[in-house]
Amino acid sequence: MTKPTLDLSGQVAVVTGASSGIGAAVAKGLGVAGARVVVNFNSDRDGGEAVADAVRQAGSDAIAVGGDVSDEGKVENLFAEAKRAFGTVHILIANAGLQKDAPAEAMTLADWNKVIGVNLTGQFLCCRAAIREFLDRGPQPDVSRATGKIVCMSSVHERIMWAGHVNYAASKGGVMLMMQSLAQEFADRKIRINSIAPGDIRTPINKEAWDTPEALAKLLRLIPYGRIGEPEDIANAAVWLASDHSDYVTGATLFVDGGMTLYPGFRDNG
Ligand code: NAD
Repeated sequence: MTKPTLDLSGQVAVVTGASSGIGAAVAKGLGVAGARVVVNFNSDRDGGEAVADAVRQAGSDAIAVGGDVSDEGKVENLFAEAKRAFGTVHILIANAGLQKDAPAEAMTLADWNKVIGVNLTGQFLCCRAAIREFLDRGPQPDVSRATGKIVCMSSVHERIMWAGHVNYAASKGGVMLMMQSLAQEFADRKIRINSIAPGDIRTPINKEAWDTPEALAKLLRLIPYGRIGEPEDIANAAVWLASDHSDYVTGATLFVDGGMTLYPGFRDNG
């Protein structure tokens, strides 16, 4: 048996929604671990190119490829570009996501469909494209023990209900059973599929929750570990889940949340 390693040299990773926030940190983390990285962006080409540059500066290789993950043709093109540049794909980080918040009685169908389309259907389209490539290519045991690895970016809101964000919570609840069903379906083909459920991480998506001292103090009441998460906290978990160190892990959600799902409101109550 080869020694399990966090080293991802010789592997190719696609990271969606990687021009900012968690996706950018994950792309850089995978690059530092030695993977060649396909940096997907939606509209922010400069952001995508800057992340690809950072991966190259870390000593690996990267390309930036635009494309809306909720568009089937764009997802096919993303994986075709990845194969054209680097030959195959070993790792998918299905990270792209967004929020369109509203009280349920005022939520438009367009905002419901947009969030489900990107956060759930977009993840499915990317998982399907990655799985097709893993199956076509077959095992490469000298590169990685698994034939392919997928990490879905879920949320603590796959478990914690979230008033005012019903589209987002429904999308992440959907990601949970999509990930588990795919993991069950493909484990015998040596494809490992897991999720990361971040708590509150300092990124543009939740800026209003941390960018004033008052908002941050309110937020910290929900986090037993006493600090907001940083994108690098998620990158470290993603590198582990993509590596042979986690080779016996599939169908799992790794909560990276400073204890948010420990329901700290119940510490002295209830
Ligand atoms: P972010 O807004 O910085 O990143 C989201 C990325 O997705 C952006 O780069 C955006 O351009 C991209 N994106 C949006 N729609 C897209 C589309 N149709 N096609 C391709 N890319 C698209 O916020 P983030 O916090 O880095 O979010 C990344 C993921 O982490 C999301 O899935 C989010 O739900 C999840 N998450 C974040 C937190 C947090 O606290 N920040 C907590 C739980 C889960």
